[in-house]
Amino acid sequence: MTDGEVSAALNELWADLSRRPLWRRPYTWLYIKLMTKYRLKLLSPKDVKILVPRGKVNYCHECCDNCCLGKHSAVLLHLQDIAMLLDKGHESYISQEKPTFAKEVLNERPALERNQRSVYWRVFPIIKQNKFHACSALGVDGLCKLYPNWPLSCARFPYSLHADDKRIFFSPRCPSYLLDEVRGARAAVMIKAAVEAYNAQIKDIILLHYVPEKLSELGLMKYLKWPL
Ligand code: SF4
Ligand code: SF4
Repeated sequence: MTDGEVSAALNELWADLSRRPLWRRPYTWLYIKLMTKYRLKLLSPKDVKILVPRGKVNYCHECCDNCCLGKHSAVLLHLQDIAMLLDKGHESYISQEKPTFAKEVLNERPALERNQRSVYWRVFPIIKQNKFHACSALGVDGLCKLYPNWPLSCARFPYSLHADDKRIFFSPRCPSYLLDEVRGARAAVMIKAAVEAYNAQIKDIILLHYVPEKLSELGLMKYLKWPL
């Protein structure tokens, strides 16, 4: 496939699937089953409440942390991210080797524990980490080698969407920020990416259950641990 083809084919697959109701025959029972386990309603930015003060953006130049380093920073990839990496010839960044955490660590960090238990963590790959748990796309200059074609989770961070109450907050994991109205445009990009990342999870679950054979044809299934 040529540049952009896997992403375009994946978009077309989703468009085709969502043209008709998901509960149509012969998928009615499957739809009911999925409904009981997952949120299937896609959101738009107007459906979410923004809890972040206007213009608040991350200020990486003065950061004493680096969110591209560390076990807990492993970036889970959506189908859309995998397709983009394949289109850009970055297959080598995709990995199913995920960090593991001691029980005590998980006990102290309920969000991490929830994430580890989730079907997404078990099924989808991450961006490869090196032996020091640095993201393999992190350049020696401290910049992301993939930007601007980077994973959705990186595009939205530190903006996060809380799925239960549909609110977008500024992640407490990001210690360095500015309040700058001029940068409101960048905040808007992260808000959009946070919603997109949330929706991508829903689309992934639906595509995985409805059209796994089509995902295989696109060369995407080999990166997933599916069926579990
Ligand atoms: S933690 Fe926040 S400020 Fe620090 S590198 Fe990451 S995004 Fe930038
Ligand atoms: S893909 Fe880029 S921004 Fe995302 S964790 Fe890796 S180096 Fe950082």
